[in-house]
Amino acid sequence: MGYAVVPSDGSLQNIHIFMVSFPGQGHVNPLLRLAKRLAYSGLLVTLSAPEYVGQSIRIANNIADDEPTPLGRGFISFEFFDDGWSLDEPNRSDLDLYLSQLEVSGRQNLARMIREHEEKGRPVSCLINNPFIPWVSDVAESLGIPSAMLWVQSCASFSAYYHFFHNLVPFPSENDPEIDVQLPFMPLLKCDEIPSFLHPSTPYPFLRRAILGQYKNLTKPFCILMDTFEELEHEIVEHMSKICRPIKTVGPLFKELETQATSSNETIRVDFLTADNCAEFLDSKAEGTVVYISFGSVVYLTQEQVDEIAYGLLSSSVSFLWVLKPPGPETGRLPHVLPEGFVEKVGDKGKIVQWSPQEEVLAHRSTACFVTHCGWNSTMETLASGVPVVAFPQWGDQVTDAKFLVDVFKVGIRLCRGAAEGGIVPREEVERCLREATGGGPKAAEMKENALKWKKAAAEAVADSYRNMKDFVDEIVRMRGASRDQSTNS
Ligand code: UDP
Repeated sequence: MGYAVVPSDGSLQNIHIFMVSFPGQGHVNPLLRLAKRLAYSGLLVTLSAPEYVGQSIRIANNIADDEPTPLGRGFISFEFFDDGWSLDEPNRSDLDLYLSQLEVSGRQNLARMIREHEEKGRPVSCLINNPFIPWVSDVAESLGIPSAMLWVQSCASFSAYYHFFHNLVPFPSENDPEIDVQLPFMPLLKCDEIPSFLHPSTPYPFLRRAILGQYKNLTKPFCILMDTFEELEHEIVEHMSKICRPIKTVGPLFKELETQATSSNETIRVDFLTADNCAEFLDSKAEGTVVYISFGSVVYLTQEQVDEIAYGLLSSSVSFLWVLKPPGPETGRLPHVLPEGFVEKVGDKGKIVQWSPQEEVLAHRSTACFVTHCGWNSTMETLASGVPVVAFPQWGDQVTDAKFLVDVFKVGIRLCRGAAEGGIVPREEVERCLREATGGGPKAAEMKENALKWKKAAAEAVADSYRNMKDFVDEIVRMRGASRDQSTNS
């Protein structure tokens, strides 16, 4: 294949990429995927995040030490940093407070860690961060190191935040909370289809501040990497590259070139919880018969909603694999309880797990459809796996992704419009959607056909994503050469 990232002249030697992740599963996963690809191609990549998630990652994935592990032609290492709070600090669930704490400690600790790498003879060539921690580009700037940002949502959401930040089109406001939003190259978005943090009534204004912070600092990264692909969001990517910053699409990040999908590559994971074994259950089911249900790593449904989903599953009689993730101890929430007799009634038709190996589940021949909260990682994973969806978005970009999954990519049906809608989706509606998605009707057939079309497009996009990644690395090599020339001349 001609898409190796390594230039033939060996100029990659000693290129060291230092990645910093916001401590969320949906943030660390795409960054690790990028890290694996770059390491495989011959670079040293260090992936960093606050120590409290580092601890969960080490335990869940049997990562023993922080020394670089060989991967392909390069190395990958994990280096977690102290955020200044004890590991079990309950205040972390107050994100408003935590984000400021993370910034203060992160700025100091990252600068120190990067200097230490320099002293050890592995100077950092580029820093990459993901959203919510835009101050990483300031650290890079103060140390004279180039930086890039990996955007881990869709380009459509990126555009929505950008247009809001620069006040380019009207958005819902206190005075006019119900208006639709027209963004370039997108269908008209209803007021509950824009990323919900932009809505004046959002209960998470600090998340709006955090995400918009990235836009204040957007001139600093020399490039924006995005986990999307051209065919999926071509016009939006092109437009945003013109009006904002150059965007390099590197998605679907979770798909690797076949030549790189080695066993060692697969074993490096960064789950916060150990994934349960789902293969035996899925293997025991017929092709295209299992409904996979997961609401990602953060969404926590009310007990009443969980009850309605459980009863809907029972009355629809589908086979299912349901991830009921226990709430983290810091959240103070109670684990969900299933209705009395539910497990007995379901028998071997259903399996409940705490955490799944989602990529494997979506790739399994038994999986029929995905009841999803529509986080962007789940969205990309389902599209690239050819699995249709039943959309159950809650907030943030999930509501925008749901709109695209249903009305633009046409691979799904809607079970709800988001948490802002209020209320509980009743069991009858759950049953109706499950039947529609899994029955042999025309809607299910159309969704599957489109899903398979996206699966093919995603597979074809992998080569492009490596080409874009190569351009990105070439640019780092070029910048390093230029800064060496400068220091030799001065
Ligand atoms: N995931 C997983 N097992 C699960 C649920 C989720 O491995 O049981 C992974 C999923 O594959 C995805 C990430 O966790 O990569 C969740 O990211 P997403 O953007 O979908 O949602 P978030 O958790 O950020 O809301």
